[in-house]
Amino acid sequence: MLTGQKKLQLLSEPKNIVITTHHKPDGDALGSSLGLFHWLKSKGHQVEIVLSSDFPSFLDWMPGREEVIIYPESKDKAASLLQNADIIYCLDYSALSRTNILEPLIREAKGQKWMIDHHLDPEDFADLSYWDPKAAATAQLIYTFISDVNGDAESVTAEIATCLYAGIMTDTGSFRFRSTTAAVHHIIAALIDAGARNWEIHEYIYNSSTENRLKFIGYCLLNCLEVIPEYNTALFAITKEDLAKFHVTTGDTEGLVNYALSVKGVRLAALFIDRTELIKLSLRSIGEIPCNEICKKYFNGGGHQNASGGSSSEELSQVVNKFKSILPEYQEILTK
Ligand code: 5GP
Ligand code: MN
Repeated sequence: MLTGQKKLQLLSEPKNIVITTHHKPDGDALGSSLGLFHWLKSKGHQVEIVLSSDFPSFLDWMPGREEVIIYPESKDKAASLLQNADIIYCLDYSALSRTNILEPLIREAKGQKWMIDHHLDPEDFADLSYWDPKAAATAQLIYTFISDVNGDAESVTAEIATCLYAGIMTDTGSFRFRSTTAAVHHIIAALIDAGARNWEIHEYIYNSSTENRLKFIGYCLLNCLEVIPEYNTALFAITKEDLAKFHVTTGDTEGLVNYALSVKGVRLAALFIDRTELIKLSLRSIGEIPCNEICKKYFNGGGHQNASGGSSSEELSQVVNKFKSILPEYQEILTK
């Protein structure tokens, strides 16, 4: 759905543009941001990407990543760019709170806010919104924003294609999730035609673990995995001591929750991590089990039906117990 399309004419003249995405960007967040960045620059705009935090090392190869501005490292510059932007793109999030420390700066900025996103329940903050909760990834929407909304598919270069391919690949679990429609595969084919080297992107993202990360995952599988067969549920609870012991850095915990979901029969998987300032929670599910409802109702979060997240300021053990205590409410759907 596209609303506010009259504003698109603004792009016909060079503008000052800042691209933002959610805190702790994942492959879709960074891939969408860099893909759009390269396209807008090729159209003559002044473009910067401002992030609220660093990004995982498995994304530290994407074309253009060295130009990204990380707010905690360049506060004054980032704040001034946001203040003076004609257009602020808001990618891969639909609630401003997901930009963490950037939220007040974006909220108060006088420029237009253009949201491109696929999360449910969007907050009403955008001047232009290109939103589809059925899209497999924001990177898919960036592709159709360029190709369909702006009729400019021929401008998709190899570097744009590479960034968007990585975004779609990571948000679909390598084209495995239910969101991976024929339309997604058509777009992927177009991205490969445009120069995305698919095999190389898989290597960069999936074969780039540090030894520490693999040992951390081994430790979690051996010591932290709990299976609750009566509710077809499995979870990991990770303490801050565990994180310190394995020198866990941004991105090292990515994908861990999927190991819990890969246990035969498990339909709901949870990962709880003690990030000191709060407990961060990730949920994954199969089929009808509404992770986003659980996160929204009980853990100040949200997301997609089969992948969502939230947080809590309670103790790790309390949060895990709270999660266990709500399982009976979903018994029917969990054991169906
Ligand atoms: P992850 O578990 O990988 O951190 O997040 C999975 C999905 O859950 C994200 O794509 C996002 O849609 C959603 N999500 C994660 N954390 C939060 C949160 O704190 N609040 C909301 N509203 N959504 C979240
Ligand atoms: Mn996404």
